[in-house]
Amino acid sequence: MKEYKSRKKSAELLILELLNKKKSLSTKDKQHYLNLKKGFEGEKLFDSLTARLEYECIILNDLLLKINNTVFQIDTLIITSHKVYIFEVKNYVGEFYFEGEKFFKIPQYEIINPLHQLSRSESLLRQLFSKHGINLSIEASVIFINSEFTLYQAPLNKPIIPPTKINGYLNQLNTISSKLKRNHKLYAEKLMSLHIEESPYYQLPDYNYNELKKGICCIDCDSFSISVVGVMCVCKECGHREKAASAIKRTVEEFKLLFPEQKITTNIIHEWCQVIDSKKRVRRILKKNYTKIGTNRWIYFE
Ligand SMILES: [Zn+2]
Repeated sequence: MKEYKSRKKSAELLILELLNKKKSLSTKDKQHYLNLKKGFEGEKLFDSLTARLEYECIILNDLLLKINNTVFQIDTLIITSHKVYIFEVKNYVGEFYFEGEKFFKIPQYEIINPLHQLSRSESLLRQLFSKHGINLSIEASVIFINSEFTLYQAPLNKPIIPPTKINGYLNQLNTISSKLKRNHKLYAEKLMSLHIEESPYYQLPDYNYNELKKGICCIDCDSFSISVVGVMCVCKECGHREKAASAIKRTVEEFKLLFPEQKITTNIIHEWCQVIDSKKRVRRILKKNYTKIGTNRWIYFE
């Protein structure tokens, strides 16, 4: 297993995913959500390619780093014996072209030039390496992962890898890479220790408890039409069955993600889940999965 650090959905994406089910998002928020979702899918697709690399290397996915109070993100970083490769992964679909320093979607919609993003990350990473005594050179590229992406007038001297060239690019690293040394592992550990969990740049809409749709949501089809039959939750839309205990726990986790400051009580979770008749059942599941704090009517769970 070469993948040192795996990729997870960010809290921002998880929250937007939930809000999208539980309220109607503004056009702008919805677009932001869909962009994040698409970006994540593209990155996972790239992960499935790097996971197949057969030479010795260390893969760190989704690093968030900071140097001189500037935060920057690296989609994929691969440490090989002779170099560190970093990749900015773009899941763009459609036809694009470069003109001068600008990047357009056809017909003429300008978007942020990914090469600028890339060189910013590369330069910040270089500073971070020098600060922490990491002595490896860096090669940076933009990966266009989607097979429905077409680029016209691609500047040949720029580090742009279109979908048809990705495998070739990754495989040629194979011929130049040799065994990793102890230092490489130490560098990887150093980068892991510098990784920041929470991005300061989340763009989340305002929301409150009252406006959100309550209920247990089907894990397969997102429907809220769930009925409880014995120990199971059954979806009336798609027929998916899930143990009620796990559906309730999942729904408590959703609550925690949306309202990290709120205390978890039997009453509030009973209301949040909607379809569980008995408060006793809710309390039993909270007791089993969380730590009970306080006594009598002041009880809550963490
Ligand atoms: Zn369903």
